[in-house]
Order: sequence, then C-alpha cells, then structure tokens
Amino acid sequence: MIKVPADIPLARPTLGSAGKTGTWRVLKPVIHYDKCTRCRLCFFYCVENTIDLEKNLYPRIDYDYCKGCGVCAQVCPTAAIEMIKEVK
Ligand code: SF4
Ligand code: SF4
Repeated sequence: MIKVPADIPLARPTLGSAGKTGTWRVLKPVIHYDKCTRCRLCFFYCVENTIDLEKNLYPRIDYDYCKGCGVCAQVCPTAAIEMIKEVK
C-alpha cells in the first residue's frame, strides 16, 4: 500500500472545467444513501469535481456539471451509485 505524506498537495479538477453540462447527458448517477458507507471514493475519483461532501460526509452531486461518465458508480465499493436514464 502506498502511503501519501500529508504535506503533498493533491490536484483536483476545477469545478466544471468543461463547463455546464447542458442537455446532452444520457445517464445520471443517483446515490442510494442507504448503501453509502461515506468512504469518499466517488468524491476523490469524480472527473469533473462535481461531488461535494456534506458536513456528515455523505456525498452530494452537482448535476449542473456532472457529465454522466459513470466513474463514480464504477469505483463505489457498495454499488450505492446507480446510473439511470435521463428523463428529457
Ligand atoms: S458521473 Fe462522472 S461527472 Fe458525474 S458525478 Fe459521477 S464521476 Fe462525476
Ligand atoms: S463511493 Fe459509494 S459508498 Fe463511497 S461515499 Fe461514494 S456513494 Fe458512498
């Protein structure tokens, strides 16, 4: 296991670096909080930095910027994130 020293800054993408998503997203992630263990992996892996943590450390998704890539759902160890079809 690699241990990251606390004084190494970790880079995260700027919020919505590719701009607001608009209407083209076809799938969107939905968090099932009853399955969430607050591990924060989705927060660390989100490619758009659109996942924030509430005070209680539960993740919250900003759908204005989420691109629907599904990375968060792939890394979630408890399958708490479901990718569902967008309703237009
Ligand atoms: S689907 Fe992609 S952009 Fe949207 S919250 Fe998950 S990882 Fe981030
Ligand atoms: S990766 Fe899954 S279990 Fe971990 S905080 Fe995100 S939704 Fe919760």
